[in-house]
Amino acid sequence: MTLTVVEPATGRAMAEIPEATPEDVDRAVERAGSAFRAWRDVAPSDRARLLLRLADAIEAELEDLAVLEARNAGHPIASARGEIGMVAATFRYFAGGVERHLGDTIPVAGGVAMTFREPLGVVGLITPWNFPLPIASWKLAPALAAGNCAILKPAELTPLSAIELERIALEAGIPEGVLQVLAGPGPTVGQRLVEHPGVAKIAFTGSTRVGAGIQRAAAGTIKRVTLELGGKSANVVFADADLEAAAAAAPGAVFDNAGQDCCARSRILVQRSAVDRFLELLEPAVQAFTVGDPLGADVAMGPLISAAHRDRVASFVPDDAPVAFRGTAPEGDGFWFPPTVLCPVDPASPAAREEIFGPVVAVVPFDDEADAIAKANDSIYGLSGSIWTRDGGKALRVARRIESGVLSINSNSSVRVSTPFGGFKQSGIGRELGPHAMEAYSELKTVYYATGA
Ligand code: NDP
Repeated sequence: MTLTVVEPATGRAMAEIPEATPEDVDRAVERAGSAFRAWRDVAPSDRARLLLRLADAIEAELEDLAVLEARNAGHPIASARGEIGMVAATFRYFAGGVERHLGDTIPVAGGVAMTFREPLGVVGLITPWNFPLPIASWKLAPALAAGNCAILKPAELTPLSAIELERIALEAGIPEGVLQVLAGPGPTVGQRLVEHPGVAKIAFTGSTRVGAGIQRAAAGTIKRVTLELGGKSANVVFADADLEAAAAAAPGAVFDNAGQDCCARSRILVQRSAVDRFLELLEPAVQAFTVGDPLGADVAMGPLISAAHRDRVASFVPDDAPVAFRGTAPEGDGFWFPPTVLCPVDPASPAAREEIFGPVVAVVPFDDEADAIAKANDSIYGLSGSIWTRDGGKALRVARRIESGVLSINSNSSVRVSTPFGGFKQSGIGRELGPHAMEAYSELKTVYYATGA
């Protein structure tokens, strides 16, 4: 069986690859289990050096990987270059963690207790199509650094960069079986990984619906599970904000990667007295958000990932939708959709509540600080968000009250290699990146040493 990989900007096939099967999962778990016995005992400084070599090797192939990701995932080439740079930085950051993966010593009667962080063994990593290689690296780097062996199942729509990464890792000296990639369907290959008794943990990024199923299926073998799921993040703009700056940043906050971003600020909550002025400033910024060929110069947004996904996004903008204004998108082949601003939007409508995962943003007015917090929290999700105001105290008060894993003040920033990332509520369980990420790939063991009285 083969898998046809499609280029979303043209709608045409760009590669044909072998499709993995559940039996391949069984074989990969066996191989990973054997590799683990040696990998866990590699001297920490040597394991760190291998991860640094992998980071260098990724950087050496940055341009080819960026072009591959731009073509397969539809990301503008400049963004894709930044993403591959982040992948290298992620391996470098966690290489630095290998020798700082510390335990404690704890004074107790009659001896000393100490703790060790032991690797879990074989871990299964299941990733989505929206940021294929970065999201894979957020899981792979801490998993390998902590001494585990990993089996990565990329999304069927975007497996190509992960397959390249497996090759690059082998060439960089990562031993065979430590990092394996299996490209195959979620319901068969992914499901087998989740149920396999030889897999100790699943780290998943994807939809809340599939994440809930993974949590249920993982219960059968008491697997450790971390989940990075959906979002419906709020971009909260107070009337006292620098409205020019907030409006200039708002398109990037939701239309980057064509809105296919779990951190997309797909709700703009604007204080009622500033709505008209904000929209006046937002319109030219949206129209300047150029949509086109991901490999073209000065393109801010590419296509959506598939025809089916474009149709789903379009279903949130029926003919009678309150479209305030929208940008333009190319005609013809490719899965295009223009950046679209809806206003006024009923906070109870699907456009204001559901994760659209496309370039559609709902503008919702609010009255005061309490109303802003209530509206921001009126969601099953809690992943990201922004607060725009010139009042520092108010910014921090609101940031403390919004139920969200990541927030930025007067900025769109969400993800950094060195800071924890993950969600409240139905946006997930656990955190990736940052100083604690390796803990999620290890067990804490306590050893008591009796020293005698
Ligand atoms: P899906 O949940 O459909 O798929 C994610 C991954 O899970 C894919 O590799 C898929 O395989 C696999 N999968 C599907 N069914 C199963 C199953 N039964 N068992 C095991 N694995 C399975 O999400 P999308 O790919 O559509 O990605 C978009 C979603 O991801 C959005 O909802 C978004 O919010 C979320 N996301 C969250 C992020 C976060 O960090 N919180 C970051 C990025 C995205 P395949 O597709 O190959 O069949």
